[in-house]
Amino acid sequence: MPLRQARPPTTAGSDDPAAAPIPLRPHHLVCLVGFRGHGYSDSFTANMAALAARLRGPGGETTPLVIRPMADAICLPCPRRRGSGCRDAGRIAALDRRHGERLGLETGARLSWGAALARIRRKVHPDDLATLCAGCRWLPLGFCSDALETLRKTGAAPPFPEGKASKGEAPSGRDTTSGSAPLPSRMGDAAT
Ligand code: SF4
Repeated sequence: MPLRQARPPTTAGSDDPAAAPIPLRPHHLVCLVGFRGHGYSDSFTANMAALAARLRGPGGETTPLVIRPMADAICLPCPRRRGSGCRDAGRIAALDRRHGERLGLETGARLSWGAALARIRRKVHPDDLATLCAGCRWLPLGFCSDALETLRKTGAAPPFPEGKASKGEAPSGRDTTSGSAPLPSRMGDAAT
């Protein structure tokens, strides 16, 4: 699915219980399950770490999400983001298409993080990532398959943070589609 060009994500406050749903690309749902605190830069890591901590922390299951196959709350600070699109549009679109189809989530779908976890647990086996995530340089590290195994066994994503986030650089070979910036206090209408 081609990425629509639109305005970059806006921010929406996480302290507002009535906050607009957090926009996420389909494949970023599983990325958020496996994230361990590494990223390209301090600001990228801080952004994704704060979102992972919010979702995977106490009460995170009720956080509302909306599925949008374009730059999202994670992409917001990404140096590869080009407006609502991505420098690596083809590869990222393929990831979104495979994950969206597997999870049965279409553009505009709304669900809670808890419902997303349940769906991932039901529909994605750790061994599936070799196909679903083909082209992602994080894949060989095994973080995401390990996290899916935890989800499969316990029904919950691994807690986060579980250690100290990296400072400014990814493990060798990791690619990320997201960039870096302070976590938006609000990430509502971020159709990127
Ligand atoms: S392997 Fe890559 S694309 Fe797949 S869930 Fe992990 S970080 Fe995301």
